[in-house]
Amino acid sequence: MNVARMVIGADLVDSDVHFDAVNPFTGETWATVAQATTADVDAAVAAARECFVSTWRKTPGVERARLMNALADAVEKDAARLADLETTDNGKIIRETTTQMHFTARNLRFFAGCADKIYGRTIPLDKPGMFDYTVREPYGVAALITPWNSPIAALANKLPAALAAGNTVVVKPSEHGSYTTCDFAKLALDVGFPPGVINVVNGDGAVGDYLTRHPGIDIISFTGGSGTGSRIAANAAIRTIPVTLELGGKSPNIIFDDANLDKAIPGAVAGIFAAAGQTCVAGSRLLVQQGVYDQVLTALGELAGRIKVGDPKNPATEMGPIANRPQYDRILALMEVGREQGATVVAGGGPASGGELNRGLFIEPTVFGHVTEDMRIAQEEIFGPVLSILPFTDEADAIRIANATEFGLVAGVWTQNISRAHRLIDSLDAGVVWVNTYRSNAAQAPFGGVKRSGYGRERGEDAIEEYTYVKNVMLDYSDLERDPFQVKI
Ligand code: NDP
Repeated sequence: MNVARMVIGADLVDSDVHFDAVNPFTGETWATVAQATTADVDAAVAAARECFVSTWRKTPGVERARLMNALADAVEKDAARLADLETTDNGKIIRETTTQMHFTARNLRFFAGCADKIYGRTIPLDKPGMFDYTVREPYGVAALITPWNSPIAALANKLPAALAAGNTVVVKPSEHGSYTTCDFAKLALDVGFPPGVINVVNGDGAVGDYLTRHPGIDIISFTGGSGTGSRIAANAAIRTIPVTLELGGKSPNIIFDDANLDKAIPGAVAGIFAAAGQTCVAGSRLLVQQGVYDQVLTALGELAGRIKVGDPKNPATEMGPIANRPQYDRILALMEVGREQGATVVAGGGPASGGELNRGLFIEPTVFGHVTEDMRIAQEEIFGPVLSILPFTDEADAIRIANATEFGLVAGVWTQNISRAHRLIDSLDAGVVWVNTYRSNAAQAPFGGVKRSGYGRERGEDAIEEYTYVKNVMLDYSDLERDPFQVKI
């Protein structure tokens, strides 16, 4: 049996207690995961602290970059194996996990490029003989908490910026997706990262809670559900440390009458059925202008019915299983609520079964029509392959409905009217707006949300700011004698 051992300093650490890694396609336990004790968490934080103080913060940016590029090389070389492991563990289709591994390497390279370009400013003062400048300093030890839907991709949104800025890290992956993270940390040791830069502790929410309350942690970055995010933010507030939160969404994907439907309809499919909807950026609320509502509803119903659901390792498969049993049950329960509250089932509506599907956690690609704003399926993050389609009358109506949830992660706008696109960009509550595209990402482009979707930015140069604080330096090079009892301004 494969065992996912933790990485603490230079050691691969096993445990007396293990939990199962279950393949959601076969239902079989394919690995066991070493569960951290509080002593393991203490040891990981201590290893990260020791390395930060003795080594990593003093390592020149160009050397941090060299190691990050070496890790990018290793991930690219090993992409097929890592993707296979990830797909085994969480059921994401192999096309997607392979792309995620290459994107992980891309993010590492982007931030390797930043590592020796973390600049301060020189600030002219209104006093002669005084020199003022700023430097950006790493916080120290970062706790990175990642979810099960994309363990490595979520880590790749955090780790490269944290390392480039000079922090060391303790990663706590989800209990439903730990294996690849342990493997990834081993690769980092193999390419020569100093022990203690990247540590991994496994376990459930209690381990994450202990880590985020730990006195040795200087900054937290979390991706996951909004409820957990609030609890982690409370832990951070008690210790007065910074936290970035990449939480869920109920993102509006808005199709206007004037949209190019040949692009918009596949864009709606990409928004909700890619990754079986288990993605924070799922465009789970499709807002369609009345003039094209029936056409779009019919087309999406047909397309949803044609999606190839099955073995996530088959390159032809378009939608794999749900990653774990609690999430599977949650999706089915919310679908039932949708029906009870009066939404029309246009496609799917229940578990997917037959042949190879009978072994795994499969749900049919589901489209609900005639959804109203007050329904729970229009307000709550379902995190599954369930699309709610809502009609709107005009631009103002679209903006009002789009912003009428507690979330604000991303939004999609489909129109050929450039003025309208800009008016929407100005008005939508979202950290990312995609115009005539959906689910597009880039290492250079900052990502993150507003409202209950969280705060702080991942990727892009903005992420470096999240992992550094500004230190101001004032230096008096004059021979002037100054009054010791008067503040020097
Ligand atoms: P969680 O938010 O509970 O899990 C995310 C991570 O936080 C996991 O590593 C989890 O560990 C850890 N965690 C859980 N509780 C705590 C705690 N008190 N302190 C510190 N860390 C903790 O997500 P769920 O798996 O429960 O999913 C629930 C919902 O959250 C989903 O249905 C979906 O709506 C949303 N979600 C959003 C994601 C996103 O990408 N924005 C990703 C995942 C979920 P463990 O898994 O071991 O409990």
